[in-house]
Amino acid sequence: MKPETRAIHAGNAPDPATGAVAPPIQLATTFVHGPAAERHEGPEGGHEYQRESHPTQSRLEAALATIEGGAAALAFATGMAAIHALLSSLARGSRVLVPRDVYSGTRVLAREFLPELGIEPVFVDMTDPAAVRVALIDGAACVWVETPSNPRLEVSDLAAIAEAAHAAGAIVACDNTFATPALQHPLALGADVVMHSTTKYLGGHSDVMGGALVFARRDALHARVAHRRHLTGATLAPFNAWLILRGIRTLYVRVAQHCRNARAIAEFLVAHPKVARVHYPGLSGDPGHAVARRQMRDYGGMVSFAPVGGRDAALEVCRRVRLFTNATSLGGVESLIEHRASVEGAQPVTADDLVRLSVGLEHADDLIADLAQALDGPSA
Ligand SMILES: *Cc1c(COP(=O)(O)O)cnc(C)c1O
Repeated sequence: MKPETRAIHAGNAPDPATGAVAPPIQLATTFVHGPAAERHEGPEGGHEYQRESHPTQSRLEAALATIEGGAAALAFATGMAAIHALLSSLARGSRVLVPRDVYSGTRVLAREFLPELGIEPVFVDMTDPAAVRVALIDGAACVWVETPSNPRLEVSDLAAIAEAAHAAGAIVACDNTFATPALQHPLALGADVVMHSTTKYLGGHSDVMGGALVFARRDALHARVAHRRHLTGATLAPFNAWLILRGIRTLYVRVAQHCRNARAIAEFLVAHPKVARVHYPGLSGDPGHAVARRQMRDYGGMVSFAPVGGRDAALEVCRRVRLFTNATSLGGVESLIEHRASVEGAQPVTADDLVRLSVGLEHADDLIADLAQALDGPSA
């Protein structure tokens, strides 16, 4: 079956109780059990208490495992909750390799929280498999990959990293938020776990928070992380699970249009005299293009660029846009723009001339016209 078809049908069987074609939202916090805590049997049974599992979340997890090609999935309240649950499940005394360009929340969590757990984060250039191999000489429990990365759209070679990591006894976890399973299947390239901020493209409408981990195997790691989610209460609420499930149904058509619009914008920007740099792996001159071509089906809806004139010019573009909205986050139907260094807090690591775009589903001509007027300055 083709992935587009699976994304429509996974976890979407009619409600066994009513025959409803759209899945129900099951709000119950507790589920009937037998006198010796025997769990309720039946097509959507097996639940005891919502913090551990619930039917709407189980449907979402079935869909996530299917679209990523994994053996099991765990849904979380947010993407950060998913990252924390996985990384904090690693053994004390271990090291984790983290990309130098990575989602800022992941960087802060790795720097501040992992050492408290006795886990050492090691930042490496993940776009260079040789640098990863060198960093692995001293051992690691996990290599964290984010490709394409946030916000520089750096591309890392998942197959090469997985081979090196496995040879060194490390697992590979890949943040697949930017690519989505519509464009990239990290598990098929050798990753052991895929992570998503389902807040982004999977939800798809900027109206729900969620996170997920998809596991290549239903193994001890999966059990450890599930236990952690249950006991720390990082569970996804039923309504949120339902909204993300609904978003997944249209993921492939949305992502295809995000990609078309982003490519048109990247090509417009790269040819613009007032643009100094464009980061988009779909451009043939992009340093990540060759690897992206091999491991991705298309190049995604995120573009970042630097206007000529540094920080002031970048802020000026953000001030002048009319259709793009100044806001953080990504993956919704509406186009967003962000001066990344400004939202990274007191110690930004991103270059201060970088503008990040989450290209939405508006007509590309309107988006390009908006960027053109923002770059060209006020017309008479
Ligand atoms: C947003 C994001 C996260 C964090 O997810 P939340 O749902 O905001 O907690 C992690 N990784 C990437 C790449 C993201 O864009």
